[in-house]
Amino acid sequence: MNYISARGGIAPVPFGNAVLTGIADNGGLFLPDSIPDATGRLAEWRSLPYADLACEIIGLYADTPAVALRGIVERSYSTFRDPDITRVVSVGPVFVLELFHGPTLAFKDLAMQFLGNLFEHLLGKSGASLNILAATSGDTGSAAIHGLRGRDGVRVFVLHPRGRISKTQERQMTTVLDDNVFNAAVEGTFDDCQRMVKELFSDTPFKRAHALGAVNSINWARVLAQIVYYFYAAFRVMDCTDAPAVRFAVPTGNFGNILAGYLAARMGLPIDRLVLATNDNDVLARFFADGAYRPAPVVSTPSPSMDIQVAGNFERYLYYRFGEDPAAVSRFMDEMARNGTASVAPLPDGRMDDLIAAGSADSDATLAIMREYHKRYRYLADPHTAVGLAVATRHMDEAIPMICLATAHPAKFGETIRQALGDDAAARHPIIDRLGSLAARCDVLPASVAALREYVAARVAEA
Ligand SMILES: *Cc1c(COP(=O)(O)O)cnc(C)c1O
Repeated sequence: MNYISARGGIAPVPFGNAVLTGIADNGGLFLPDSIPDATGRLAEWRSLPYADLACEIIGLYADTPAVALRGIVERSYSTFRDPDITRVVSVGPVFVLELFHGPTLAFKDLAMQFLGNLFEHLLGKSGASLNILAATSGDTGSAAIHGLRGRDGVRVFVLHPRGRISKTQERQMTTVLDDNVFNAAVEGTFDDCQRMVKELFSDTPFKRAHALGAVNSINWARVLAQIVYYFYAAFRVMDCTDAPAVRFAVPTGNFGNILAGYLAARMGLPIDRLVLATNDNDVLARFFADGAYRPAPVVSTPSPSMDIQVAGNFERYLYYRFGEDPAAVSRFMDEMARNGTASVAPLPDGRMDDLIAAGSADSDATLAIMREYHKRYRYLADPHTAVGLAVATRHMDEAIPMICLATAHPAKFGETIRQALGDDAAARHPIIDRLGSLAARCDVLPASVAALREYVAARVAEA
């Protein structure tokens, strides 16, 4: 299988190229040239353990030899604390799919552990090295560091705004002491960090000379790894309910997680609805209401990993929404660049999509549902998961089970738990409790691209 750009205009490239380059030269996002139909495989996949299922699904999209892929998958998921990797639990009226049993207690581990092992494999083949550069406001940075720590051929540089992320998030990154991990606390804001990274990436000679790479949520391998748990969870829930299909509720920021569900449905998994849930940064919920994509200024909410107004992976959805017409995607993206907004016509039945339904939950609704689930069902959801739970309640169906994706462990958000419940006694995790006593390493950088250039160049030269 080869990879094309959602905006067209490039010759198809093999899987490894799409993963290592991250983004096509014309700025478009990579997509498989076709989506495999798995309808005929569902019965045989249904009883597979997580790692076996991952090999089957990923194997349809990747040209990685089966033995190598098996090794990558096994190494990636051996770092998870749950033998099932992702766990489905029945909670009141819904099922909760817990995606937070990886090293950083957030769903990004499912993709980032896989990406780290995949990079190592792809680089090992060519003997090349790669220097990953990322700016983070919290979760992505720590998942990337834990996915890439100790990997041959890879260094990872993560910039965070000094003193502006939570102590937990900071320590989850800076207590990783592997030689190939470099944390830089920037004396500025998250926007400064992002600007510095972007500017260095746009310096093409520097980028080439220092083999800079990215691990952001638009990397195809991340989406691919996420498809697996939709199948795995649907099978578990269909096993115990005998239902013919399931629904998923997905707390959404960059459209990465829900895109994987969308692809699972297109592969033939019986998903009768995907419920897209946003916080007050509701650009996607508004799109699915009236077809206009109109980003607004970002506001802070109790679910910070979803405080996003430009959803990186949305372009991939548009490709399918426009009937796999890259020219239409290109026109939409051009119009966005020109006018800051663009729109899509509704389907003949007036809906915006026949699979996705969307809604948003504000901060009060988020905290209220956290209290309700804790009080009635003794289940403590983190604030991101809670956004999904709140929107899910508006899309329930007697005959079809609802699976709500739990994207982080509540212990990562003690402050919000205290706000919702009065104390955070129920939100503890030994990994988080231990962070305070570990040694840490971090450099401080002024908010200037010149300083970043020097920092990266010096460390790459050391090897
Ligand atoms: C990143 C993140 C999300 C949003 O996922 P997207 O793929 O960006 O839609 C939701 N919850 C948590 C805890 C996250 O870290």
